[in-house]
Amino acid sequence: MSLPAGLVEALAAAVGPERVVVDRERLEPYGRDESELGTFPPEVLVLAGSAEHVQRVFELAARDRVPVVPVGARSGKSGGTLALRGGIALSLEKMDRIVEIRPEDLIARAQPGVVTGRFQAAVEKHGLFYPPDPNSLDLCSLGGNVAENAGGPRALKYGVTREYVLGLEVVLPTGELLHTGKRSIKGVAGYDLTALFVGSEGTLGVVTEITLKLLPRPRHVATALVCFRSVEDASRAVARVLARGIIPRCLELLDDVALAACARTSPFRFPPDAGAALLVETDGNDEEQVFAEIARVAEAVAGEAAGEVIVAQNEAQRRDIWETRKYLSVNLKALHPRKLSEDIAVPRSRIPEMVALTREIGRRHGFEVATYGHAGDGNLHANVLFDTDDQRPRVEVAVGEILRAAVDLGGTITGEHGVGLAKRDFLVYEQGAEQVALQRRLKAVFDPLGILNPGKIFPEPG
Ligand SMILES: Cc1cc2nc3c(=O)[nH]c(=O)nc-3n(C[C@H](O)[C@H](O)[C@H](O)COP(=O)(O)OP(=O)(O)OC[C@H]3O[C@@H](n4cnc5c(N)ncnc54)[C@H](O)[C@@H]3O)c2cc1C
Repeated sequence: MSLPAGLVEALAAAVGPERVVVDRERLEPYGRDESELGTFPPEVLVLAGSAEHVQRVFELAARDRVPVVPVGARSGKSGGTLALRGGIALSLEKMDRIVEIRPEDLIARAQPGVVTGRFQAAVEKHGLFYPPDPNSLDLCSLGGNVAENAGGPRALKYGVTREYVLGLEVVLPTGELLHTGKRSIKGVAGYDLTALFVGSEGTLGVVTEITLKLLPRPRHVATALVCFRSVEDASRAVARVLARGIIPRCLELLDDVALAACARTSPFRFPPDAGAALLVETDGNDEEQVFAEIARVAEAVAGEAAGEVIVAQNEAQRRDIWETRKYLSVNLKALHPRKLSEDIAVPRSRIPEMVALTREIGRRHGFEVATYGHAGDGNLHANVLFDTDDQRPRVEVAVGEILRAAVDLGGTITGEHGVGLAKRDFLVYEQGAEQVALQRRLKAVFDPLGILNPGKIFPEPG
């Protein structure tokens, strides 16, 4: 769409001209995220500095029904920030203040543009702990994490973002300013609107402040790497660890393709017969207990393991183990330049079946698939690897089959990245037409004009 005459000038008058961008070169990066779904630039970008700015933007957008797309740090993998229908990109990146940290209440308040890793480091200075740790934490923002209900490796023990959001300040597309939730840990009054906004992918309202629950920081962490001959052995090992009543804080799986990619830069020499690996981490306040727990993990997986369990003896070795996992995405691109990455989740007992199915689907369509991820909670990143753009339509068919297979095994099309644009055509397959219709009606209550992030989550009619 082209913008109504006078809108840019009205936006500049409302929020200040320095906060309004129309220069094409500066808009272009706001048309992309990490989803590899293409570039959909907005027509104008507003860099909000306050909740009031957000209200003013909605007021002006509502007059001519101009789409408004909330934007965090653009690390999203489901296309949530893409301006499908042009309009206004409303960036929260300048609202990046940690408002307060209250050790006595174990809570903090922060603006949505605060980078997650910066927030974690800030609370740690007070001996506190904010567990959600998406692997993008040096990049992504708290607002994006709330909108996507982000997870990460530590979700196995500590849960996802939702578990930590006590309250929100939100501006609705109608311009109303809401304060949901509470600052106490308990509270059951009324419908849980806070929970509804968490994971709503920027389609119900724009989050302008977040109240987060914190935990005391565990004083000790132990990290180990275990190799296996096959994914089946590794999956059995996951089940064995959990069955012994051990909940490590992380239990990450790498299959053989992922392992081959890691081996390119990893400081470790994996055994030649290694066909999978698990990265395990335990934590707590008593150092002996933390290491005793990792020893119990080692004991539990000994029957399946290929070679020794490598336990990091110091911080540098811990970092080495995590580096192995961290550069995986980049290393996969060295095997094949293109990839489509999915984040299905299945019941833990179905992991071996799911991994076997992804391989079979990949093979049938002529592609290699690398599977890795948060095996402890059943959340797997299945990456279909390919070389040229003309292969993409076939890759998309394969991806569709992978998503349906996850649902058929009792799982979901997305464990943490959200539906966005990437998976909107599969939502009905997972949830059924009635549930999707109810969600559309809910959206209309919050956004009667349909101006907030249109085209996301729900399939297009027809
Ligand atoms: C290398 C890499 C690793 C990753 N690892 C993980 C992982 O382990 N776990 C995981 O969960 N994700 C992971 N992600 C995905 C991504 O980082 C998360 O989804 C993150 O939460 C997005 O945050 P963001 O600030 O970049 O949001 P954006 O990408 O900017 O936006 C994401 C969505 O949130 C909406 N939004 C943003 N801010 C607001 C706001 N203030 N109010 C309302 N809506 C808003 C947007 O409209 C969009 O729909 C990874 C991404 C990369 C690139």
